[in-house]
Amino acid sequence: MKKLVIDLGHGGSDCGAVGQSGTREADVVLFIGKELGELLKGYDIDVKFTRTVDKFISLSERAKIANDFNADYFLSIHINSASDKSVRGVEVWQFGNSNAKLNSFSKGICEDVSRIFNIRNRGVKYSKELSVLKNTTIPASLIEVDFISNKEAEKDLKVSANIKAVALVIKNNLVKLFELEVSTNDTLYRVCIGAYRDKNNAINQVETAKNKGFIDAFILYVLILL
Ligand SMILES: [Zn+2]
Repeated sequence: MKKLVIDLGHGGSDCGAVGQSGTREADVVLFIGKELGELLKGYDIDVKFTRTVDKFISLSERAKIANDFNADYFLSIHINSASDKSVRGVEVWQFGNSNAKLNSFSKGICEDVSRIFNIRNRGVKYSKELSVLKNTTIPASLIEVDFISNKEAEKDLKVSANIKAVALVIKNNLVKLFELEVSTNDTLYRVCIGAYRDKNNAINQVETAKNKGFIDAFILYVLILL
């Protein structure tokens, strides 16, 4: 089973960026993380969060959690801030661009998030300096969802439907990245022993199966579209 560490930026004494109306980055990413955690339940992936409460965790500790967990992938969630209050947009940071699957994951996040808020897609960017990217030994990316320093963005990030939408697109892109399947207990596994153009052959095969003790054997009619 694939292992994923989701890192929710800041927390505790470090509230991250703060919007003009006082909305804290640490709280917004915690809300997104909680929704994302719910959405990933039922998928065949082992998820660990660096934090699930409003608590301070150092940057080196976050990378250590990912490395110790032996995760396949590290995803950090942040909200951006700029001195120019007019700036909005989504961007995703990576350490490098050598992992094609990771590149398309990050690109997908940018496209989908920019559509939710109708904001600029600032694209995938690269940094050798961002601590959690530098110190994780696994493929990692860091999402900057939007700029909390912008009044409209701050307002949007307070709407729970938007938080849910962001969590959903992250989940959808993770499903694509890991080719995840839903693991429910209701799944039925059907065993097939043949397919025949002549109905009599099918009837005979069912009889043979039943005689061998497979009493639930039955014929399924499949329409072939040419
Ligand atoms: Zn941050």
